[in-house]
Amino acid sequence: MAGSATPARTLLRGGLLIDGSGAPPRAADLLVEGDTIAAVLEPGTGAEGDHAVIDIAGRVLAPGFIDSHTHDDGYLLAHPDMVPKVSQGVTTVVTGNCGISLAPVPPGRALPQPLDLLGPSELFRYADFPAWMQALRDAPAAVNAIPLVGHASLRVSAMDDDLQRPATPQECERMARLLEEALEAGAFGMSTGTFYPPAQHATTQEIIDIGAAMRGRNGMVYATHLRDESDHIDAAIEEALDIGRALGARVVFSHHKLAGERNHGRSVETLARIDRAALLQPVCLDCHPYPATSTMLRLDRVRLARRTLIAWSKGEPSAQGRDYADLQREWGLCDEAMLQRLAPAGAIYFLMDERDVERILAHPRTMVGSDGLPFDPHPHPRQWGTFTRILSRLVRDQGLLTLEAAVHKMTGLAAENYGLADRGLLRAGWKADLVVFDPAQVQDVATFDHPVQASRGIEGVWVNGRQVWDGGQPTGQRPGRVLMR
Ligand code: ZN
Repeated sequence: MAGSATPARTLLRGGLLIDGSGAPPRAADLLVEGDTIAAVLEPGTGAEGDHAVIDIAGRVLAPGFIDSHTHDDGYLLAHPDMVPKVSQGVTTVVTGNCGISLAPVPPGRALPQPLDLLGPSELFRYADFPAWMQALRDAPAAVNAIPLVGHASLRVSAMDDDLQRPATPQECERMARLLEEALEAGAFGMSTGTFYPPAQHATTQEIIDIGAAMRGRNGMVYATHLRDESDHIDAAIEEALDIGRALGARVVFSHHKLAGERNHGRSVETLARIDRAALLQPVCLDCHPYPATSTMLRLDRVRLARRTLIAWSKGEPSAQGRDYADLQREWGLCDEAMLQRLAPAGAIYFLMDERDVERILAHPRTMVGSDGLPFDPHPHPRQWGTFTRILSRLVRDQGLLTLEAAVHKMTGLAAENYGLADRGLLRAGWKADLVVFDPAQVQDVATFDHPVQASRGIEGVWVNGRQVWDGGQPTGQRPGRVLMR
């Protein structure tokens, strides 16, 4: 790859183009000018000119990947090189998922779990959403952001300390105004996580009332971590669809999964249900390629999981990276006493079935979302390996997806669902978010035992025409933008 100072005009020559639409690969050259794709050229027709040339023979050139589900709101500010993501080829992250966003949360407010998954309390210093967007514009990261507003964050902002109740009409009004202010500033929509304590007492009507400002706006997204991803998932899906219809918004089923052995195999039904709904309203899904999930330590999850790993623990820091079952044997404690000793804590739960994961990922409406927790000391490997694991394991090793179908999920499909008019495809006039990788070598390296490891085979990444990743290193460039609807 060329050096980090990408000149104004650059020809990427000799690569195999996968354009993000799902179309088969084809040999072509691509000319970048400034932040834009100037032309897609037949091989060898890019005359010698005043442009630099980068030879990418034998490599795939694709649109930069869109991570459709992240918790990178604070990480973008704290670690703007975004190495966990650019090292996988990611050029855009959707923030504010699962009902938790860094803003609006006034400084000094107590942060109930799981808001703390977004990073240390010092990062929560934006009482209104536009202030966080402006902070990101003032100190850009290496990647673009698609901001969503989290419903639990609105609750923390607008309600007193007692969140274990539905919001009053006055509180709903306050939240609705905060959301409207964010949408005016360009936010793409709202997320909820009624699975989590700060939002579990919110009624369906509360969410619809708060989301009033989404009605009548184009391209709104309602992303939801369902109230239940286990025995009662059908009712939870219906609730999300009701909310999406009431708000006139596209429903994004976040990290779609079936938790617990007795629910394994039910993705056949849930996907059919979502397909039926798609005839009536816009819907899509995201997921990652691992049979384990990760969030705060909760006994209901521990009891559903066949194995639980401790990602971090404030109560017992030495538990980090250890198996819950091993610790329980050593300490001789019941579950409740375990929770008391470990909390607050985060954990990784092996509670999905591989076949469900593959079926959901292969579904034509499913995008790719890492759901990584960037500040966890011993994170789920999805934060570093989601995209490259799909390209290596599911595409190259298992043949579950063609390369162009996998890339489409990571690019064109996500851009379409989030309403990006000029990203996600390799087209003249579109923004130059690009990734170059070796399809034979690309490989995730992060594992559950050693989760903080950059992937192999991602050779170059460009965001808005500037190179941010070069042969295994960040370039230090930070051309990321807060994207606007
Ligand atoms: Zn979630």
